[in-house]
Amino acid sequence: MEDLLKLGSAALKKAALNEEAKTYLLANPVLFGLLKKAARRYIAGDTLTEAIPIAASLNQQGLRCSLEFIGESTRNEQEAKEATDEFLRVCRTIRENKLNASVSLDLSHIGLALSNDFCYANLTALCQEAAAANTEVIISAEGTERTDAVLAMYQKISTEHKNVGITVQAYLHRTPDDFKQLLSLPGRIRIVKGAFETPPGLSLPRGKELDEVYLGYVEQLLLTGHRCSIATHDHTLQQSAKQLIRKHQPPATLYEFESLYGIQTAQLTALKEEGYPAKMYLVYGSEWYLYVCNRIAEHPLNIFQALNDIVSE
Ligand SMILES: Cc1cc2nc3c(=O)[nH]c(=O)nc-3n(C[C@H](O)[C@H](O)[C@H](O)COP(=O)(O)OP(=O)(O)OC[C@H]3O[C@@H](n4cnc5c(N)ncnc54)[C@H](O)[C@@H]3O)c2cc1C
Repeated sequence: MEDLLKLGSAALKKAALNEEAKTYLLANPVLFGLLKKAARRYIAGDTLTEAIPIAASLNQQGLRCSLEFIGESTRNEQEAKEATDEFLRVCRTIRENKLNASVSLDLSHIGLALSNDFCYANLTALCQEAAAANTEVIISAEGTERTDAVLAMYQKISTEHKNVGITVQAYLHRTPDDFKQLLSLPGRIRIVKGAFETPPGLSLPRGKELDEVYLGYVEQLLLTGHRCSIATHDHTLQQSAKQLIRKHQPPATLYEFESLYGIQTAQLTALKEEGYPAKMYLVYGSEWYLYVCNRIAEHPLNIFQALNDIVSE
């Protein structure tokens, strides 16, 4: 059973990256319609206008939100500028609607793969607009080929803006060194296990060792009183993190549990009901294909949920 699930997961990830399959599926109205029904579980809408009522409703239920306009690796400055403008709209909408929400993004979406200076200018504009909305911008962790560039950009922007945070992948062998430096910067550290395939020897696989490493980072963050986000759907890790919170008693303003929209929502709601700060990560936009395939692939039994979503009215 375990082997079959791994096989299914690998196949789904491969299918997600197959450009021919993607083009065919997205160009076929019937298949696209079916896929979109499955995607709805994980995506807050095609547009910001669709995502905002969901964020507002989650806020009313006592959950904070992260908002991401989905996309990555823009190929030219025009695309990166358009993405930046959209994120600026997100900041303004958060302010106008008085949402309890922050912004999350991939730096490659706003031009990191094109030019450092261009990306820095875009990120600076976003940090300023986020500050006006009294909120923060959290930078996502991308593939290992981008880790150096992402961390360098974070270090640079942190000298001028305090409302910017970073995502750290616990599975990378390099993270202990990076982590020490990141602790000296003021921004929130979101700790995740890590989603990307890495070249051999660079990362830990899922399992007990990674769980211990993950909790080690959580403990250091709580102990040093660093603002952090405990971003996982792993129920056991969430329970262990609760024990660490009870042990170290950090102020509730410093930490939050965070999970992705549509995934193990009941666990996040339970944490919120118990009084822990909890945040839902909402993504929206039309470039959802890869994101949705990955969410299904990382937990292949989700394929049955997707089938059910497709056949449901
Ligand atoms: C808020 C947030 C931001 C993130 N940002 C990044 C980022 O910037 N860079 C990056 O590399 N990764 C990011 N990730 C993804 C992260 O690295 C993991 O790949 C993802 O969270 C799955 O790992 P896990 O901690 O939930 O544990 P896993 O060991 O993968 O799963 C533990 C358990 O959680 C549940 N679960 C996990 N995934 C699913 C799913 N898709 N469907 C249903 N149940 C599931 C299952 O019960 C599973 O047994 C982010 C995750 C979150 C929650």
